[in-house]
Amino acid sequence: MDLLGGTGGPVRIAGRGLEREALLGWAAAVAKEIAGADAVAVHATASLETAAAVVGGLLAGVPVVPLPPDSGSDERAHILGDSGAGLLLAARAEAPPSGPPLLPVDELPRDGSFSAPEPPADATALILYTSGTTGAPKGVLVARGAIAAGLDGLAEAWAWTPDDVLVHGLPLFHVHGLVLGLLGPLRVGSPLVHTGRPRPEAYAAAAREDGGSLFFGVPTVWSRTAGDPASAEALRGARLLVSGSAPLPVPVFERLAALTGHEPVERYGMTETLITISARAGGERRPGHVGTPLPGVETRLAAEDGGDVPHDGETPGELHVRGPLLFKGYLNRAEATAASFTADGWFRTGDIAAIGPDGWHRIVGRASTDLIKSGGYRIGAGEIENALLAHPGVREAAVVGTPHADLGEQVTAYVVADGVGERQLIDFVAARLSVHKRPRVVHLVGSLPRNAMGKVVKTRLGEP
Ligand code: ATP
Ligand code: MG
Repeated sequence: MDLLGGTGGPVRIAGRGLEREALLGWAAAVAKEIAGADAVAVHATASLETAAAVVGGLLAGVPVVPLPPDSGSDERAHILGDSGAGLLLAARAEAPPSGPPLLPVDELPRDGSFSAPEPPADATALILYTSGTTGAPKGVLVARGAIAAGLDGLAEAWAWTPDDVLVHGLPLFHVHGLVLGLLGPLRVGSPLVHTGRPRPEAYAAAAREDGGSLFFGVPTVWSRTAGDPASAEALRGARLLVSGSAPLPVPVFERLAALTGHEPVERYGMTETLITISARAGGERRPGHVGTPLPGVETRLAAEDGGDVPHDGETPGELHVRGPLLFKGYLNRAEATAASFTADGWFRTGDIAAIGPDGWHRIVGRASTDLIKSGGYRIGAGEIENALLAHPGVREAAVVGTPHADLGEQVTAYVVADGVGERQLIDFVAARLSVHKRPRVVHLVGSLPRNAMGKVVKTRLGEP
């Protein structure tokens, strides 16, 4: 298995470009330096150095631990301590003062050569940390074979070929930006234009000037694009807009479709399962739904007692996943690994979903923070967030359950809005959803707490 495929187009990151040959030569020089190491950390800025370092790890068969580049962050310290990586790969000028010994990637030649037998499919390629939306990020052991299978499934689902030009500006230390956004174009063979940061104007420029055809974003990126009509209209000539990593609010889907002429493809995945479920390039899109499983992936819904939940499109259950994309386990967390699999080898995602008779999946939310148990009802936060976001004055919304003496939990909303009051918002939702879904409390706030992937960290809502 050749993880990176054969030939392919150039890679440009934050304004600097390299032909694929030169990137592979640089990566070979990295591989030569690190061969035999247990694991290496990469200071994962949006840069060609990061690309050369990660690809170098893959060539050498050394597990790569991408680090968020914000050196002051607790997340970075946690990952360095947890992974025990013995070497840090970075450009000398960018390297943080603390951490393991440095290998200055920018000082290595671009025309290196390295040859070694290809590691087996079950060898660990990456140790990727989860986004830390619900707790401390967990180290996920991702095998080479899982990456290859996952990317081939995406290429098929999205009709992604070397003729596409991929554009995105996502961080290169999570599955979305790194596996899909960097290893994806290298395996498929398409050129990459990484915009440094995921800004709508930069996506528009890449569409106009670089022939960008395939665009990746998280919902916050698409929400900003939907609020920037000039940039959105520049995407009319694109082939496919893809959203993932968090739920794409239905009002954002609709605005984006109206402005760009493209209904976005939504997909669902996790660090542990890579991309699992997606709408198809040539097929139907359904706002509020994430599509059907990728080739080779099986899904089921489990009730709280573990039994099967019917696929009627209505009844929610915990989403379980099986297939070649699954991770090998959590690093240093044998118990958590064991607890996350059933006896039959299904991975428990911790997400609540409903599956229709036609196999289309709707993600209700995370069991831990998005499922509100109020007065005997099980209420998905996402539906209420969508209802709030349909109000023209509402920019962002997050809904959680907070303790309530009679109801167990009450529906509580945190909203970023212009010129609209709490009472009006409660009435607005009450006119759209059944009475038990109406927020009982609305907090108007200046912003919502978000992590590096732009996901709302619900456990931090209400903190000063
Ligand atoms: P942590 O596991 O550390 O709490 P995290 O779960 O956010 O962080 P990731 O692995 O990056 O870390 O994200 C996977 C999760 O993102 C999924 O379990 C799901 O809750 C959410 N997610 C991803 N795509 C979608 C989508 N299209 N719709 C709804 N939720 C999504
Ligand atoms: Mg998770």
